[in-house]
Amino acid sequence: MSDAPTLLVMKFGGTNMGDARAIRHSAYLAGRSLKEGVKVVVVVSAMSGVTNQLLNIAEAAEKGDIAHANDQIAALRTRHFTAAQDLGAAPDAETVREIRELLETLRQAVYGVYLLRELTPRSRDLIVAFGERLSAPLMALALETSTLRAHHLTGGQAGIVTDSHFGSARPLGTAAGRIRDRLSGLLGAGLTPVVAGFMGETEKGAITTLGRGGTDYSATIIGAALHADEVWAWKDVDGVMSADPRSVRGAQNIAQLSYGEVMELAYFGAKVLHPLAVTPLQDAGIPLRVKSAADPEFAGTLVTTQAAGDGAHPVKAVTAIKGVSIINVSGAGILGVPDVVADLFAALARENITLLMVSQSSSMSNVSLVILGSDEERTLAALTPPMGGRQLQVDVQRGVAVLAIVGAGMRGTKGVSARLFSALAGDDINILMISQGSSELNISVAIEGEDVERATRTVHSAFGLDAPVSEIAGQAGIQ
Ligand code: ADP
Ligand code: ASP
Ligand code: MG
Repeated sequence: MSDAPTLLVMKFGGTNMGDARAIRHSAYLAGRSLKEGVKVVVVVSAMSGVTNQLLNIAEAAEKGDIAHANDQIAALRTRHFTAAQDLGAAPDAETVREIRELLETLRQAVYGVYLLRELTPRSRDLIVAFGERLSAPLMALALETSTLRAHHLTGGQAGIVTDSHFGSARPLGTAAGRIRDRLSGLLGAGLTPVVAGFMGETEKGAITTLGRGGTDYSATIIGAALHADEVWAWKDVDGVMSADPRSVRGAQNIAQLSYGEVMELAYFGAKVLHPLAVTPLQDAGIPLRVKSAADPEFAGTLVTTQAAGDGAHPVKAVTAIKGVSIINVSGAGILGVPDVVADLFAALARENITLLMVSQSSSMSNVSLVILGSDEERTLAALTPPMGGRQLQVDVQRGVAVLAIVGAGMRGTKGVSARLFSALAGDDINILMISQGSSELNISVAIEGEDVERATRTVHSAFGLDAPVSEIAGQAGIQ
């Protein structure tokens, strides 16, 4: 940033909202900028684990296990009341009253699912969005106790109006104007808006969610709408790393990435950011910083249009998605009939199925598709009707993983795939499918699921991405 910022959007993830201590620290991080005169919009995730718990509650109610659902709601009540109390709220405080009301509404929604024994995508979204609705008042409280004036809002109240693709909703073109309308007044009055992430609202007022990890996306949608100087995503990791630090001990921070590189990484399983998180920022060129809440002075990762690298590392990161399936479509019907292939892709597009990899044999007698395991049922249903008037044979291979290497430096660099393949072969790992996008930002391979952890470590080290041993010892707290 050349000039001092005037407006920042700060996103705090689940771990950073995990309990009163973490929330207080997050409020301190926002407060540091506020006290320097910067305006800040805060966007929060649910407390860690709460979204999964809500999904579990919804599914229990659908199955008729209302006792389990109610026990879980009681556990949520205890956790949120404890956090409010630890943040200094009196038993009759506004925050406590609000949490009580939200949990009562949640209980009623869950009871409705139980009575109907039906959990629609729409009711699931209503239920899971309670996590963020419950954490936003806690963050506002933490800011207020450190003498900062705050006002919390749901995603819809903040102007995030979306389409009605429940579970993976997208903002409408009108969202940006509405966000400006809803938040500018608060900012102008010196209040810090605290927005419940992950959620939006349709034009008719139904609550939607933006897909798992969606709070990153809420923050960038708001950042772009308000023309913020930067969006900062505070995390429990040192920025975007060369691999998931949970599987690769030597994973290192990546100082700078382009929007395109981040998208590839997120698309191929790096959970650190929502796959669409950078899309709202691209046109306006608003930078995204991924920062470590534990080490706020550390620069973290800067994401801009530039893909600056050090030249020595054409590959910046290795990532993987587990639990995917290969769908093999074959049969004489495909041979030389382009219509069949066109119909096949159209059928998948209609069902909104994410295609991770596609390969077609040159004889055109076979097409292989890699999809998420969770999309398998819908994919098979979509491929059942005759394509181009012909019946096809469809086989499934489950328990597969996709491993991808990502880096703009691969473009025009020879020998990258050779290095990838020989590293995998050297470790006795069988490659089931290969794909390289024409953008040359990534090369991905499908491998057996059981090999994925080992393959990730092998490839990470083959591309020279491991941190020096002394640094690894330091990260682990070993002196
Ligand atoms: P938040 O709630 O802050 O969004 P997430 O749990 O969604 O946090 O994302 C952070 C997690 O992403 C980290 O704890 C880490 O295990 C995982 N992760 C996966 N791949 C990467 C990567 N390449 N760099 C950093 N973190 C990664
Ligand atoms: N709480 C939501 C999730 O767990 C959204 C987020 O954390 O970004 O997916
Ligand atoms: Mg996340």
